Amino acid sequence: MGISILVSVLMFVVGACLGSFANVLIYRVPRGLSIVTPPSACPGCGTPIKPYDNIPVLSYLILRGRCRSCGCRISPVYILVELAMGMMFVAVFARYGFRWDAMLPLAFFMVGVTLTVAVIDLKEMIIPNAIIVPSLAAAVIYVAVTAAIRHDPRLLLDQGAGLLIGAVPLGLIALLYPKGMGMGDAKLMAFTGTVLAWKVLPALFLGFLLGSLAAAVPLVTGRKGWKDRIPFGPFLVLGCWLSLFWGDRIISLYRSFLRA
Ligand SMILES: [Zn+2]
Repeated sequence: MGISILVSVLMFVVGACLGSFANVLIYRVPRGLSIVTPPSACPGCGTPIKPYDNIPVLSYLILRGRCRSCGCRISPVYILVELAMGMMFVAVFARYGFRWDAMLPLAFFMVGVTLTVAVIDLKEMIIPNAIIVPSLAAAVIYVAVTAAIRHDPRLLLDQGAGLLIGAVPLGLIALLYPKGMGMGDAKLMAFTGTVLAWKVLPALFLGFLLGSLAAAVPLVTGRKGWKDRIPFGPFLVLGCWLSLFWGDRIISLYRSFLRA
């Protein structure tokens, strides 16, 4: 019991620190800025942020969401990303960590990349190639190397199927109906499909379900017109997260329905 609390705290700290790095990517990648230099500065007054003011979650609370130099408000998105990444890391470890699973590093990687991409898509309506393409390449290499080391061709087939199921249908929709779906969404699902394998099917189903529900809300309430585009990426990401945790159960439930 004591050990699992300790591990959870450790996972939260690691996740929150990576969330802090995700915030750098979220701000800089869509603007085409270097992610290494210059060091982080206040967007209001340009004062470089001191290391002791750059502690994930804590600094935001201590400074009450304001810059120490000029007092301008710092977006709550920063602390929300750090909290979400910390909590997702705790959840991934709780689900996959205690029995060692070769897919565990990929699960952490998927959570980190998809949270970053979802926030960028919400803010900028784009899924940057600079993040999703190298992430897809890294996932494919990891799967290929793991399959080779474990002499496990089945792994290649399963994760390869996930990649294709994620990429091909959304890629076709993006080609035929570019207003509704971007190629970024197809690349996102190619990446998560490589991680989720067959669990990409419930991920797509849940993503489409949540996205359609969200798209229907403004139509029902009449607050927004048809033309207001909502980004689809964040809903796909939610579907992927749900499937990462419960996809196996959804698939076996579906199979038992077919048998009945
Ligand atoms: Zn400032």
